[in-house]
Amino acid sequence: MENRDNDTTTDVDIAIVGGGPAGLSAALALVRARRAVTVIDGGQPRNRFAPHMHGVLGHDGLPPTELLRRGRAEIEGYGGVFVDGDVTSVSVEEGSILISAGGEVVHARRLLAATGLRDELPDIEGLREQWGRGVVVCPYCDGWERRNGVIGILATSPQSVDQAQLLRQWSDRIVYFANLIGEPDADAERRLVARGIRIERREVARIRTDQDDRLTGVELTDGEIVDVGAIFTGPTMYPLDELLLSLGATTTGAHGIRWVAIDADGRTSVPNVWAVGNVVDPRANVPVSLGAGALIAGAINADLVKEDVEAALARINARSEVDPEEASSLLR
Ligand SMILES: Cc1cc2nc3c(=O)[nH]c(=O)nc-3n(C[C@H](O)[C@H](O)[C@H](O)COP(=O)(O)OP(=O)(O)OC[C@H]3O[C@@H](n4cnc5c(N)ncnc54)[C@H](O)[C@@H]3O)c2cc1C
Repeated sequence: MENRDNDTTTDVDIAIVGGGPAGLSAALALVRARRAVTVIDGGQPRNRFAPHMHGVLGHDGLPPTELLRRGRAEIEGYGGVFVDGDVTSVSVEEGSILISAGGEVVHARRLLAATGLRDELPDIEGLREQWGRGVVVCPYCDGWERRNGVIGILATSPQSVDQAQLLRQWSDRIVYFANLIGEPDADAERRLVARGIRIERREVARIRTDQDDRLTGVELTDGEIVDVGAIFTGPTMYPLDELLLSLGATTTGAHGIRWVAIDADGRTSVPNVWAVGNVVDPRANVPVSLGAGALIAGAINADLVKEDVEAALARINARSEVDPEEASSLLR
């Protein structure tokens, strides 16, 4: 890797914006493929609120920050470079991509956006403070730890009925708090009742905790407290895709949200710009993000190899105009 302009500008093969599981997994595969990689990361992974991470083979129960710390160390061991901070702008100049983060400017042949998404929770007193501990989203990440306990479902969309039915797999004591979105329709109600799920229609006032800051219940506006040990809810998700949109990436609608469109290899509509993980896929939990990062790294490397071959041929063609003998000896 070559530094220019008082060490503030760097030329690399790939700049990865976002050092969560998706970005780091891609970075590891790419540095091992002997590519020059810089990862620029704002240090705000989506699951930073959770003390432990589950369902990640070989790492079940590990703190999420520890997975990232280990990943960074592995990547640095192969020569990968990290820049801490938020990327503020990206632009394309003569086929190369310019990425600015604080005082750093990175010139890259390819850009991989792995910037994740932001969760917006309903505005209920005490809810945000419990996010990642007493208030969670993913049954596969936190259902086991709540098995057989009283679980509240704070409904935020029609899919909350499915979330309640799913959680019934982990406990037969489920309370469905319907108030934020109104009554479930007759069919959904029949299905909830059939599985013994209690429907609570009264308005939720606040989340209750004990002196150790553990969630203990949901207080309703009439003063009654419903004891629950955990709340599963569905936050509104906002992909952190401003950089991709600023480059003109086309979007698609899925899961009721606008996402930057990618092909099966993670290519966006902007030449040489790729995306992976939660920024383009809400279903990408940690193992899926790790897998997608590795897969897309392979596709990016193959794309660079193709470009390297073309560049080598172009060099030889240019020489043949000057010295045909030398050019043909290079091809032998
Ligand atoms: C509370 C909670 C608990 C969870 N628990 C689990 C679990 O137990 N198991 C599981 O499999 N999944 C879990 N998940 C899901 C998990 O968080 C995501 O699957 C995972 O974080 C997605 O990885 P990612 O790399 O796409 O994004 P992220 O991990 O969110 O990483 C994105 C990174 O990009 C950086 N970034 C964003 N914009 C910029 C910018 N402009 N410049 C520079 N950097 C930028 C961010 O700072 C961040 O570090 C949980 C999610 C939540 C909300």
